[in-house]
Amino acid sequence: MEILKGAAVAEALTKRLAEEVKTMTSPPVLATVRVGERPDDISYERGAKNRMAKIGIKVEPYVLPEDISQEKFLEIFDQLNEAEHIDGILLFRPLPKHLDEAAILSRIAQDKDVDGIGPENMAKIFAGETDGFAPCTAQAVIEILDHAGIDLTGKRVTVVGRSLVIGKPVAMLLIQKNATVTVCHTRTRDLAKTCQQAEVLIAAAGKANMIGAEEVGKDAVVIDVGINVNEEGKICGDVNFDEIKEIASAATPVPGGVGAVTTSVLAEHVVRAARLHGKSAK
Ligand code: NAP
Repeated sequence: MEILKGAAVAEALTKRLAEEVKTMTSPPVLATVRVGERPDDISYERGAKNRMAKIGIKVEPYVLPEDISQEKFLEIFDQLNEAEHIDGILLFRPLPKHLDEAAILSRIAQDKDVDGIGPENMAKIFAGETDGFAPCTAQAVIEILDHAGIDLTGKRVTVVGRSLVIGKPVAMLLIQKNATVTVCHTRTRDLAKTCQQAEVLIAAAGKANMIGAEEVGKDAVVIDVGINVNEEGKICGDVNFDEIKEIASAATPVPGGVGAVTTSVLAEHVVRAARLHGKSAK
C-alpha cells in the first residue's frame, strides 16, 4: 500500500506560493481570531503561523477573552472585515456557547473568508463556482488526490460524515471533479457495504478505528480526515491502518496526512485573496 503523505503536497504548494509572494507589491496578511485558550486552537494557530512564515504571509493574531460579549466580538470582527491591509480572516471554532456562531459566520466579508465559513462561499461551492473559498480541510482532501494523480472522473467515492466543515463541502468538490459520490452518516444502513463498494473512501466521522478491513474494498484509495485521541492518548484517524494495509492501494496517515496539507491550502487562499485585493505586481 502506498502511503500518501501530506508533507510532499504541502511542500509543493508552499514552494509555489512563496515564489508568487516574492513578486507581490506587499505581503499578504492573515488575521487569526481566537477566543479563549483552547489547546486545539493554539496548536492550529502555531502551525498556521509557521506555514505562513515560510511563504512570506504576515500573520496578525487577535486573542479575545473567553467571556467576550457578542456585541464586542462583532465590533472587532467588523474592524477586521473593513481593514484594508488584511486579506484573510481565520476564525477558530467552535466559539464559546454564549456567542451566536451563525450570526458571526454570516458577518465575515466574502473576499476575506479564506476558510470558507460564510454562507456566500458555501453557496459558491454548492453551485460549483470555482472562484469561492472552500473550507480548507475539504480542499486539502482534493489536493492530496490531485497530487497523487488520482483521476476521480466516474469513480465511486464514499464520504463518511456530512458536516458543513468537511463532509458536505468535500462531497461537492468531488462532484465537481466528476466523481459519483455517496455520503454516509449515523443513519446510514449497512455502512460497511456502502464503504466497501467505494473506489475512493473519505473518512470524516471523528471516530477512532471505525474504518477497518470490513469497510475497505480491494485496491481502494483511503483518505483519513479524522483526528481523534485513542485509548493510549495518541492522535489517530478514523481508519485502522493496520487492518487496511493489505487491502487498500493507498492511504493517508494520521498524523501526517490531510492535517499536514490544511494550512498550505489556507495559505493558498490568503495569497488568492491578496491577488483579489490588488497586491499582485502589475
Ligand atoms: P462532526 O461535525 O462531528 O461530524 C461528524 C460526521 O460524521 C457527522 O455527519 C456524523 O453523522 C458522522 N458520523 C459520526 N460517527 C459516525 C458513525 N459511527 N457512522 C457514520 N457516520 C458517523 O465532525 P467534523 O467537524 O466534520 O470533523 C470530522 C473529523 O475530522 C473529526 O475527527 C475532526 O477532528 C477531523 N478534522 C480534521 C481536520 C484536518 O485538518 N485533518 C480539520 C477539521 C476536523 P450525523 O450527521 O448523522 O451525526
